[in-house]
Amino acid sequence: AKRENLRNIAIIAHVDHGKTTLVNEMLKQSDTLDMRTELGDRALDTNDIEKERGITILAKNTAVHVGDKQINILDTPGHADFGGEVERIMGMVDGVLLVVDAFEGTMPQTRFVLKKAFEQNLTPIVVVNKVDRPGARPEEVVDEVLDLFIELGADEDQLDFPVIYASAMNGTSSYDPDIQTQEHTMTPIFDTVFKTIPAPEDTSDKPLQFQVALLDYNDFVGRIGIGRVFNGKIKIGDQVSVMKLDGSQHNFRVTKLFGYLGLDRVDIQEAEAGDLIAVSGMDEISVGETVVSPDHPEALPILRIDEPTLQMTFRTNDSPFAGREGKFVTARQLEDRLMRELHTDVSLRVESTDEAGAWLVSGRGELHLSILIENLRREGFELQVSRPEVIFRNIDGVDSEPFEAVQIDTPDEYTGSVIDSLAQRKGEMQNMESTGNGTTRLEFLVPSRGLIGYATEFLSLTRGYGIYNHTFEKYAPVVKNWEPGRRNGALVSINQGATTTYAIMGVEDRGTMFVHPGTEVYEGMVVGMNSRDNDISVNVTKAKNMTNVRSSNKDQTASIKTPRDMTLEESLEFLNEDEYAEVTPENVRIRKQIL
Ligand code: GDP
Repeated sequence: AKRENLRNIAIIAHVDHGKTTLVNEMLKQSDTLDMRTELGDRALDTNDIEKERGITILAKNTAVHVGDKQINILDTPGHADFGGEVERIMGMVDGVLLVVDAFEGTMPQTRFVLKKAFEQNLTPIVVVNKVDRPGARPEEVVDEVLDLFIELGADEDQLDFPVIYASAMNGTSSYDPDIQTQEHTMTPIFDTVFKTIPAPEDTSDKPLQFQVALLDYNDFVGRIGIGRVFNGKIKIGDQVSVMKLDGSQHNFRVTKLFGYLGLDRVDIQEAEAGDLIAVSGMDEISVGETVVSPDHPEALPILRIDEPTLQMTFRTNDSPFAGREGKFVTARQLEDRLMRELHTDVSLRVESTDEAGAWLVSGRGELHLSILIENLRREGFELQVSRPEVIFRNIDGVDSEPFEAVQIDTPDEYTGSVIDSLAQRKGEMQNMESTGNGTTRLEFLVPSRGLIGYATEFLSLTRGYGIYNHTFEKYAPVVKNWEPGRRNGALVSINQGATTTYAIMGVEDRGTMFVHPGTEVYEGMVVGMNSRDNDISVNVTKAKNMTNVRSSNKDQTASIKTPRDMTLEESLEFLNEDEYAEVTPENVRIRKQIL
């Protein structure tokens, strides 16, 4: 038998293609909000308490109720640093919803997530969104999606995917690309999910197997394990065993179970095979562990967790300015916060060092760590970070270092410089292919060491038109006698009226400047900084001539300040408008010299 009224899907989209708007619209046009009112406050979990206290928890799962049916939608992180997490999410669902912008078409960044979906034989549904956009080309975009699926090794069934054309913004959708047929309804999407995505098997009469695939944490209930009930039933009061990864078994009585309603986590009494739920009250329950019935202690196969490949030292701010901008400056506060992060992030490691107030923090990649740093700063932590270093390992007596598979799409004219730049970073070209529309696709294998700081260099090499993506590939013997360009740099803060922006800025090779992708504000911009003693000015290159910029060259750079929340596109536009506000030595300050 099957759970005909339930579907579990993952949603995949390139950033800004409308994932959030679409899920919100599906919620609005469903019966979820009515159910919330019916259940009243009683059912709402600590999530609301958290909201009151100003702590927000991102919805990893959104449950949309349509009549007596339920669709669980799991969000997928869109970056290759989170490959293991994506794999684990794909293991909990039976299909995927790919959202593609009708104007922009497919983007390489979604490739690795889709690839994982196909590897797990998931059924795709394609939603071509933003059909209302002027210049939308929905049918061409469907062809692009088909090409991409073929390239990623989709099988015949997967290539026969259903397509829905939508404007999430207007709340409309249709099976027809003609915008005239768009009606204010999400029904085509709901119907297609129930028609094409397999229902979970109803194996609730088998012994319990619930596997934790994601972690969450809050101060009220502690560690929360999120996962799918693969077999059997679980209810409050049951005696269960947690099968640890080391083979040991810990017994618990079930005291707290969560289900999902809309964007909220709600208390539930029981759950059964097919349900996506969360548990708490089982100590340090962790990813990959299986909750079973004590009479049938059989664990599910373990899940992949990404090993860290990159490390940075986090230090408390010991400068005389400490406490001026942040609320949290003590070693104890930073330590507590890092330990809390470990509750939810299985790919993170935190080790103390010989130095007081300093921790070695290891993660999956630059993005992984920079998101953590950004979050800490937003919460009011003042800290200093070292430049990232890759983690070497000794494997079978051989010193090895991590390598990444790099995929690049670049306008043809920059292909030569891109190949040069990666060759300098010890990359080996694996493949080169012309797409026929004026761009070239390149594939490289590059030591992770060589990729530190590369994203920014790449964007300037390709004038912002190139697309760069990388995934961890393997550990392989260390490249000998090579030290990628040594950099000097500094962590600076820039005061802009009420807001303060931080950037990690480096100086590479005699005055050519780059910004470490540590803050979103500067992503994509080559920013220079002149620092002699404590006299600093911050320069941003003009977008049109971004190669080999010298920060001292007035024709190539301009002093600017930009609003904190600009996207890459917006900042490039901003730069083109010639409206540069001044960043002066008074509002910029070196916070830590990194050598
Ligand atoms: P996400 O990053 O994929 O979650 O994208 P969002 O849902 O945040 O949407 C990104 C931007 O696209 C927002 O400014 C939305 O208002 C806009 N957007 C979303 N759906 C549509 C649509 O159907 N048509 C148009 N024109 N804009 C849309």
